[in-house]
Amino acid sequence: MEPRPIAILGATGSIGKTTLEVVRAHPSRLRIASLAARSNWEGLVGPATEFSVRTVALSDPSAAAAAKASGRFAPNTRILSGPDGLAEAACLTEVRTVVSAIVGTAGLQPTLAAIAAGKDIALASKEILVLAGKTVTTLARTHGVRLLPVDSEHNALHQLLRGKRAEEVARLILTASGGPFRTLPLEALTQVTPEDALRHPNWSMGPKITVDSATMANKGLEVIEARWLFDLPESRIDVVVHPQSVIHAMVALSDGTLQAQLSPPSMAYPIQDCLLEPERPACPAPRLDLTQALNLELLPPDIRRYPLLSLARQAGQAGGTLPAAFNAANEVAVEAFLARRIRFTDIARVVEQTLAGTAADAETLDAALSADTEARRRAASLLPT
Ligand code: NAD
Ligand code: MG
Repeated sequence: MEPRPIAILGATGSIGKTTLEVVRAHPSRLRIASLAARSNWEGLVGPATEFSVRTVALSDPSAAAAAKASGRFAPNTRILSGPDGLAEAACLTEVRTVVSAIVGTAGLQPTLAAIAAGKDIALASKEILVLAGKTVTTLARTHGVRLLPVDSEHNALHQLLRGKRAEEVARLILTASGGPFRTLPLEALTQVTPEDALRHPNWSMGPKITVDSATMANKGLEVIEARWLFDLPESRIDVVVHPQSVIHAMVALSDGTLQAQLSPPSMAYPIQDCLLEPERPACPAPRLDLTQALNLELLPPDIRRYPLLSLARQAGQAGGTLPAAFNAANEVAVEAFLARRIRFTDIARVVEQTLAGTAADAETLDAALSADTEARRRAASLLPT
C-alpha cells in the first residue's frame, strides 16, 4: 500500500514534533504532504528537508516572506502564507488525514476547511471542540469525515469503545494527573510562579496546556471534548485524579465492570493510533516495565484546589456558547499568568467573573465566535493595567 499522506497543522509544537517521530518510525505507512505553523519558519526547515515536504504554510505573513527569502527550503517547496495558506496546506488533494495541533482556537478555520474537503482529522486541539463542538461534529457527519481523538484520554476511550454497542456503556472516566501542585498546601497556591506551573510531573507539553493541567482547566475542557466526540451528556463523564498518568481513561460498562487503557505517558501512542488504526505496529515510545513495582493511585479530585474544573463543568452543563466563553477567558487568563501579570489563583477568578456576566446563546458558528470575542474582551478588562 502507498504511504498515507498527512498534513500537520502546528508542526513546530509538542504534538507536531511527536507526530514527526511517529512518521519517522513508519516510512512505509506515512508520508508528510504539508507542514504548517504560526511564525517559526526555521523550525520547519529541518522536517521539510528530512521528509521531502513540498508544501509549507506560515500563518504569519512576515514569517512566510522570511522563509521564502531565506533560500533554506528546497527550490520546489511551495511556501504558503496567512490563515488561507494554512487551510490550503490542509486541503491539498493528496492529503488524507490532517493532524490538527494548533494551540488554542486559531486552528478552527483550517480544520473546518479540511473537514469540508473530506479529510479525516486527527484532532489534538480540544479548544476547537469546546468553542464550536456542534458545528465541527455536524460538519464532520455531513462530509462523512472521521474525527480521531489525539488527546490521550479520548484516544484511550476511542480504543476502549471500539466494537462496543451504546447500551453497553454506562459512564466514561477521564484520568487527570492533578498537576505539579496536587499536594501543595492550598494557601501556597497564590505564590506559585510560571516556572513552577510549567514543571509538569509526567508529560512534556506546550506551555498553555501545561498551565491548564496545573489548574485542571484542561480536564474541564476534556469533559466538554468527550461530550462531543462520544455523544454522551456531560453528566455521564467522570474525572478521577491519577498521579502516575499510566491509566488514561476507563469505561464503566452497564454490568458494573470497568475497562481501562494503560500506556506510559507518551503522546506517540495516541498519535500513532489516529494515523494507523486498525494496524498496531510497534510504537516509538518507552514500554511499561512490569519487572519494577508500579503503584497506581486513583483519587477523587479536590474541588477546592481545582475551581476551574467546576467552572468548566458548569459551562458544559449550561451549553450553547458558554463553553466558548469559558475557553476564551481561560486563554486570556493563562497568557496573563505566563506574562506575570496575574497570580496563579487569579486565573480562576478571571474566568469566573467573565462567565458571571455571560448569557448562553444557542451554538451557531457565528454565535460561538462572538461569544469568544466578547469573553476575551471581558477577561482582558479584568486584568491589572
Ligand atoms: P505547542 O505550544 O507546543 O505548539 C503549538 C503549535 O501551534 C506550534 O506549532 C505553533 O506554531 C502553532 N500555532 C500557534 N498559534 C498559531 C496560529 N495562530 N496559527 C497557526 N499556528 C499556530 O502546543 P502543544 O502542546 O503541541 O498543543 C497543541 C494542541 O494539542 C493544543 O490544543 C493542546 O491542548 C493539544 N494537546 C496537546 C497535548 C500535548 O501533550 N502537548 C496533549 C493533548 C492535547
Ligand atoms: Mg489529555
